[in-house]
Amino acid sequence: MKCPYCGSNDLKVTDTRTKGNYIKRKRQCVKCKGTFYTIEVIDLSEVMVQKRNGSLQAFNKISILRGLKRAFNKINISEEEIENILDNIEMEIYSKKTNIVKSEEIGNIVCKYLKKVNDIAYLRFLSVYKKYNTLDEFNEEISKCINERKKNQENN
Ligand SMILES: [Zn+2]
Repeated sequence: MKCPYCGSNDLKVTDTRTKGNYIKRKRQCVKCKGTFYTIEVIDLSEVMVQKRNGSLQAFNKISILRGLKRAFNKINISEEEIENILDNIEMEIYSKKTNIVKSEEIGNIVCKYLKKVNDIAYLRFLSVYKKYNTLDEFNEEISKCINERKKNQENN
């Protein structure tokens, strides 16, 4: 990287801030003392998602966002909270340090975060994603959810 003012390579970082998926760094040119900012963004565009049938598809954050919005339909939650959940999901996928992630794994990560936030959103997402064959299977999942909630309440 070069100084935008004088072209020197002699730069130092004077401040670093993280915000969501961004890392913002303040840099100073040692030669001309000019300061400027650089922004580092997590880029998952190289990550491929392996679908159940084995085919590969580029990771698409928007499709996860759509799934979240569907799950939270008519549930009182702010755009910011949804963005936060999306960021957490993205970070977790990123932390796998792999270029191929199974769609199943992504589904499990989404489930994990939804479960923390809202039971209904979680169960809605689950019903679409797991494609239950029978109502009994789905009922079982609901019971599990209720039991876990009870356990958590007892512990608190
Ligand atoms: Zn300079």
